[in-house]
Amino acid sequence: MEWFDTHAHLFDEGLLPQIEDVLSRADEAGVKTMVAIGTTLEDSRICVELAERFPQVYASVGIHPNHSAEAKEGDLDAVESLMTHPKVVAIGETGLDRYWDFAPIELQKEYLQWHVEKSRQYQKPLVIHMRECEQDIVEWLEASKADGPLSGILHSYTGNVELAELGVACGMHISFAGMLTFKRNQELRDVAKTIPLERLLVETDCPYLSPEPCRKQRPNEPALVVHTGTCLAGERGMEPAELARVTTNNARKLFGIQST
Ligand SMILES: [Zn+2]
Repeated sequence: MEWFDTHAHLFDEGLLPQIEDVLSRADEAGVKTMVAIGTTLEDSRICVELAERFPQVYASVGIHPNHSAEAKEGDLDAVESLMTHPKVVAIGETGLDRYWDFAPIELQKEYLQWHVEKSRQYQKPLVIHMRECEQDIVEWLEASKADGPLSGILHSYTGNVELAELGVACGMHISFAGMLTFKRNQELRDVAKTIPLERLLVETDCPYLSPEPCRKQRPNEPALVVHTGTCLAGERGMEPAELARVTTNNARKLFGIQST
């Protein structure tokens, strides 16, 4: 069985110092590939370094909406210079966040638009974060239709069926993280059943929100994506091995990664 963790913040201070152990536990669990996701210029560089060091690690580079206000002049250019690296397979993490108040929403929208342009220019998929801004994302998706289909991921998805349908119609994949496994989130599991199989992905979003039954484990790490995947398989009436095969193929295709 082979799993793919599409969203891992491997630069986290709880993971980076023990990265070789983290990766070997992932390997033992069957998590054979992962994308390290950048949120600032500094950690995007670390993601690229990790991708250079470890064959199973790929990188996504970008500036997270919550870090957009603190970005310095030249940071966007420096992030862009990483985008042509052969192991950079995605653009982001970008998106919108009204839960935290670290950056004005208009600035977040400018940054999102910049990442969208780069995604189209370099033909690498977007990694989209959203928190308490579903209506903004609906408007963004509707507006972007005029420029043709998008490519990317609505990551750590917790939205409703309608938004997922719109995302899929606009070319996006839907990725589920540990929250899918939490007892109280039956509604989210019901949403997950409706996603077309060919657009379905799994992730840890580590170091945050470890899945059941390891919810107390801190930090979360790529090995634990197996639990989210197994939960998702159960909800969809599939064997875990089949869901692993499908979601891993989806991820490889989206990121342009050849089978090993
Ligand atoms: Zn993230």
